[in-house]
Amino acid sequence: MATYARGDSDLHKTVQDVMERYHGDLDDAEVTVTVLLAYGPRDAHGDPVGPAITVHGVPAWASIKVTSLRDRAAGMSDAIMLLDGDRIDEWSYEELEAVIDHELTHLKLRVDERGNVKRDDLDRPRLAIRRHDWQFGWFDEVARRHGAASPEVRQAKQLAEASGDLYQLYLPGMGPSKRKSATRRAAERLQEAVERANESGVEVEVSVG
Ligand SMILES: [Zn+2]
Repeated sequence: MATYARGDSDLHKTVQDVMERYHGDLDDAEVTVTVLLAYGPRDAHGDPVGPAITVHGVPAWASIKVTSLRDRAAGMSDAIMLLDGDRIDEWSYEELEAVIDHELTHLKLRVDERGNVKRDDLDRPRLAIRRHDWQFGWFDEVARRHGAASPEVRQAKQLAEASGDLYQLYLPGMGPSKRKSATRRAAERLQEAVERANESGVEVEVSVG
């Protein structure tokens, strides 16, 4: 079983900083977030034998959950963020901030038709979970059976084709020629992945939940 520990005050300060910088609406509504570090199940030697966090059954680096009215009444914060305690020490500060930003982006204030934040009976802001812009699901065996016709490979191609734009948007230091080669590298990697799928199986990097 996973175990949990409350994040320290520095970690909570980082969450607050990221919220103020990128999620002013959550900050204005005074959304409160408690951070827990999750640790995966251990064997007899104390080594991890499973993921600390899963989202819909898939291992993830982090997750966030909106707290129910009952739990808020019991004194809990508006949302609970889980961070992978087995990995957090491997992350740079920038990577930690990005993971936290990702999780906060999942929080969406519920607003009425006039744009005012809806509040619950405790006068706490009501929250919904925002879904990812891109959701990438991959079955090795479907990719193997159907190759280029599979939704798996078609999605991967879509992402690879978009990678020129992605580099331009998210890695602006790269020049056009490098961007082109980055796109080509992405296409080559995709081709390799498809070839591996045809042989044995594809390893898809697990991302944040
Ligand atoms: Zn996510």
